[in-house]
Amino acid sequence: MTFENTREFAQKLDSQDILNKYQDEFIFPEVNNKKVIYFTGNSLGLQPKRTKSYVDEVMSDWANLAVEGHFYAEKPWWDYQERFAKPLSKIVGALPSEVTVMNTLTVNLHLLMVSFYRPTATRYKIICEEKAFPSDQYMFQSQVHFHGYKTEDTIVEIKRREGEHNIRLEDILAKIEEVGDELALVLIGGVNYYTGQVFDMKTITAAGQKVGAKVGWDLAHAAGNIKLELHDWNVDFAAWCSYKYMNSGPGNASGCFVHEKHHNNPDLPRFAGWWGHNKERRFKMEPNFDPVHGADGWQISNLPVLSLAPYLASVEMFDEVGMDALIAKRDTITAYLEFILHEIDKEVKGNFEVITPANPKERASQLSVFLHGEGRSLFDYLMKNGAITDWREPNVIRLAPVPLYCSFEDMYEFGQVLKRGILE
Ligand SMILES: *Cc1c(COP(=O)(O)O)cnc(C)c1O
Repeated sequence: MTFENTREFAQKLDSQDILNKYQDEFIFPEVNNKKVIYFTGNSLGLQPKRTKSYVDEVMSDWANLAVEGHFYAEKPWWDYQERFAKPLSKIVGALPSEVTVMNTLTVNLHLLMVSFYRPTATRYKIICEEKAFPSDQYMFQSQVHFHGYKTEDTIVEIKRREGEHNIRLEDILAKIEEVGDELALVLIGGVNYYTGQVFDMKTITAAGQKVGAKVGWDLAHAAGNIKLELHDWNVDFAAWCSYKYMNSGPGNASGCFVHEKHHNNPDLPRFAGWWGHNKERRFKMEPNFDPVHGADGWQISNLPVLSLAPYLASVEMFDEVGMDALIAKRDTITAYLEFILHEIDKEVKGNFEVITPANPKERASQLSVFLHGEGRSLFDYLMKNGAITDWREPNVIRLAPVPLYCSFEDMYEFGQVLKRGILE
């Protein structure tokens, strides 16, 4: 498609967009009495209007039924998480038994590492990406210490090549091969939070498993953003937060995936609690743990139903829309934003560098832009003028044109704001 940097052209794309009506499903903050252009759905998604009724339902069931709500609520609380299995499994490409929702992301990755990072005297190394999200780095360091190893002997980071912004697949595969028999675990962010680079999870998973390691993925920036086939890719485990692309609200519950092949393995160690115990016998209060055969077997506590309710609202919306429609719009709107950035760059004789891969197969709903020559004052200008973006040191703004609620006209408008911000 040949794009044009005009409002009319952007409006034409909006009129052809089957997801355009979903903008009305969301609540937008306002700046100067105008709804904002929201680019930070990769950090905290907007609130869907339908969410409140899901929360209100739990509140009124609690008011009217109190303890009886566990079994007699409109959506009974005791197995509330089972409502996610079908729609969520479609979003991440899994069997319904392979997904569950619980806790929060870093907590779940820790719990899954209890099961899948089982270092031995000879096989104990972890491969991760250089400059992984800080929470993941702290998690690796603390897990390694917990098992009595030193981080410098154990954590192997895949580096970017000198002068490059992204990690090459061939370098990941070579490192896996090199660490070989010493490799216990590969755990990488499926979509890099800083650059937006999408990794080839299928190939990396196969390579890690070929040398005898387990392979897990942190899908914080992937769930609800890219096409996932976790079951078919034979991924051992994965977890994601729900408050980024999945719009479940601040700090809300995390989703987990455990591959079917691990469901019937009683030798797999785990940190257990009563909510992971055999469903039929849970309230018999028996002394011996008998895990549910499925991802639900990793549940520990009573469900945080008030936190799950907004996530359920969101998962049902994703199920209605379908990942294929989302992805189709995502690719067009991201390409349009990239075009607008280049056009504005030419007009202002700027020096923007999009550090996200140019190849559409290696990126999704995010462009990270290195603003050579511009400073934080430009970011402040954007925020004051209703373009909500985020700033990452040293000089990068991240823009996520989320397909559910961003419009093509937003992209055009953003270009105009950006131009004024540079020229003023
Ligand atoms: C957002 C994000 C997290 C956040 O973890 P929480 O436990 O939900 O605070 C972790 N890892 C990555 C890669 C992220 O992008």
